[in-house]
Amino acid sequence: MYIMPCEIISPWIKEMDDRPIGEPLATEERTDIIIVGGGIAGTSTAYYLLQESDLHVTLMERAKVGYGASGRNGGQGIASVERSFRDLLLSRPGADIASMLNEISSGHQMVEEICTNIGYHDGLFKAAIWTGLSSVLEVQKQLEEMQLRLMYGAPVHPLMVDEDTVPKVDIDPVLADMVSTTTSSRLQEALCTRERYIAAYSAPASLANSGRLSRAIARHLLDRCPGRFVLHEESPVSGISFGDEVKVRSMGKEVSADAAVLCTNGYPLPELESSSVPKISNSLRRYVASMVAHTSEERTAPGAYTYFHEEGDPEEEPYFYLTRRPFLLNGDDLVTVGGPQQTISKELDHGAEYPPGIYARIDGFLARSYTRAFREEDRMCWNGPMGYTQDGIRLVGRDPQVPGLWYNTACNGIGFLPSIVGGWKVAAELVGARSR
Ligand SMILES: Cc1cc2nc3c(=O)[nH]c(=O)nc-3n(C[C@H](O)[C@H](O)[C@H](O)COP(=O)(O)OP(=O)(O)OC[C@H]3O[C@@H](n4cnc5c(N)ncnc54)[C@H](O)[C@@H]3O)c2cc1C
Repeated sequence: MYIMPCEIISPWIKEMDDRPIGEPLATEERTDIIIVGGGIAGTSTAYYLLQESDLHVTLMERAKVGYGASGRNGGQGIASVERSFRDLLLSRPGADIASMLNEISSGHQMVEEICTNIGYHDGLFKAAIWTGLSSVLEVQKQLEEMQLRLMYGAPVHPLMVDEDTVPKVDIDPVLADMVSTTTSSRLQEALCTRERYIAAYSAPASLANSGRLSRAIARHLLDRCPGRFVLHEESPVSGISFGDEVKVRSMGKEVSADAAVLCTNGYPLPELESSSVPKISNSLRRYVASMVAHTSEERTAPGAYTYFHEEGDPEEEPYFYLTRRPFLLNGDDLVTVGGPQQTISKELDHGAEYPPGIYARIDGFLARSYTRAFREEDRMCWNGPMGYTQDGIRLVGRDPQVPGLWYNTACNGIGFLPSIVGGWKVAAELVGARSR
């Protein structure tokens, strides 16, 4: 098999400084709330808890803050879930779905506020994400999605359809103002691609290195909340017991608290000991996703793209996603591309390919479709963990059976903005629960 020459590293990790921020746990401790996991979910949960209350918070991270999926993703902060409105309607009311989509959209404003409040001025890029559709069926489904969103009051994004496709789809008159006719070449231009797509829509995107942002949030909290925020890095949590108190074990030591918030994404769970079965037990499917990046001397506007779907095997992962923004090390463009995912049952090996040949496949997609220049020789490849819930909806809030257990977890593929919104939500509920 062809082995592609590649530096195995995430460019987001290259952008970070790797000096430890927190000491490993070395003594028995007591706090109010323990957060397990120091990615964007854990650090934003800590941020809102400390901002909204006078509680004491301890964050336990098994390795380094920001080095999990938050430092290994596509960098696209987008307000989206990986299930259609129609599909979600099978299990919940339309008004609830619309409210969830509106709530996730508020993540754009939340990430901006966090960056302003913590003085993180060089790492957030406001842009648009363009999504390209390549089959009539996808266009029809997108029209239905728009109709349902409009009906229930969720955000709707106007659609451009190429002139040859318009006669092949049913456009409900209520969408007349939101669907425009265009040409194939205009679509290619908007999507920055050489391939043919028959429709496209755009939505707001907040582009950021969520690992670097996690580290900046943690540093800010240590600085602003001395005595109230404790951070332990290199402190893997092996078990948590739930009784009169919550007890979190790490490396032979224990931290006790009133509640624990699991923010562990798709990593193996610590042992959870309680008299009832926690909701998260056996409910997360673990995936690994892979990415390739290049840099480019061309310094163009930041942008993001999702392409449905790869030509060829329809059984394969149906899309690729591309992000372009300045590489903070030198200001040149950084272009990252991701796509296929696969389930994983063992510990994730960052040096392995899942499946073999995946990096060449992603790189091949970039080479044949992307219209802008990139440096062939600067190729970085990496992978990262993802956790998916059975219903594809993030697990946020208290466990229904186990007092003291809370969640802001499962990335479900698109998790950067929803993690921040989840942090805000869990903090509000925890603070509310305590004041009652
Ligand atoms: C390749 C890839 C591409 C992606 N692209 C995008 C994208 O473009 N846009 C988007 O929105 N989302 C994307 N995602 C998803 C996004 O990265 C995640 O949803 C988000 O980073 C989740 O943040 P988190 O804090 O939950 O997880 P993480 O950043 O993974 O943090 C979890 C932390 O928990 C720690 N931990 C785990 N177990 C323990 C334990 N027992 N004790 C102590 N600590 C523990 C881990 O070390 C880790 O630091 C992508 C993910 C991957 C892998």
